[in-house]
Amino acid sequence: VEPGHEPPNAWLSGPALPAPRAHASHKGSYGDVAVVGGEGLAARGMGMAGAALLAASAALHSGAGRVLVTLLDDGHLQLDPQQPELMLRRFDALALEQLTMVCGCGGGQAIAHVLPEVISRAARLVLDADALNTIATQAALHALVVARGQHGQPTVITPHPLEAARLLGLTTAEVQADRLDAAQQLADQFNCVAVLKGSGTVIAAPDRVPAINPTGNARLATAGTGDVLAGMVGAHLAAGASAWRAASEAVYQHGQAADVWPAGLALTASALARRVGG
Ligand code: AMP
Ligand code: MG
Repeated sequence: VEPGHEPPNAWLSGPALPAPRAHASHKGSYGDVAVVGGEGLAARGMGMAGAALLAASAALHSGAGRVLVTLLDDGHLQLDPQQPELMLRRFDALALEQLTMVCGCGGGQAIAHVLPEVISRAARLVLDADALNTIATQAALHALVVARGQHGQPTVITPHPLEAARLLGLTTAEVQADRLDAAQQLADQFNCVAVLKGSGTVIAAPDRVPAINPTGNARLATAGTGDVLAGMVGAHLAAGASAWRAASEAVYQHGQAADVWPAGLALTASALARRVGG
């Protein structure tokens, strides 16, 4: 490749996704993402639907062919008027074996009911937030995640440092003291690609040297940006990228969107979700 012609993240994982769209492609060419999370107000008086809708929005803007959303618990929302492209579905209406699932954003405790099925059946899987907090407390779920790797089912986990600490049985300070080692331990123990978020996000896999993402800044330190990242990873996986590539490309682009953020425009998670594809 001639200097100046390589994509900005060539050092990390090759050309940027999403790839150019073939003229004769259709929405089925880019894969279906299903976001499961967003505990409703009925459960514990804490509505978390926004987290799932942010992940879904990011998946949509990252090029997913179709994005389905399952909100846990009350299920009253049948349409997001701001994002009519999103298809709301009951959990039992999802064909898990055909889907790239993004699971756990705003999941609350309700996520525990669906996790065994999601982990054992989803074609490709991103686990975030309360999915990870639940897995940290249940050895049987941990074993199901490990088994996915043995079956060749791509899996990415996206913990922030506190979630990573829970998964590893460490303190957050211990995780932060050696982030490369913590990310590698996550990848090895869960037999999947691990994204340890925060300044200098680390991407690790069982079989390779971990990478440190060079993009991103403290403007990302605001509610919901992690949900946006999870949706982006899901879209890349659905488009056919390997777990390593989906994770590293999404992390790079998520940080880059923050690095080129227009002066004078507040960086909110919903605005970020709308800008990640461009
Ligand atoms: P979460 O904690 O799940 O909401 O995720 C926050 C997102 O913002 C992750 O992708 C973090 O890597 C990113 N982020 C938060 N703070 C910073 C920071 N100071 N520098 C770079 N990225 C950050
Ligand atoms: Mg989060």
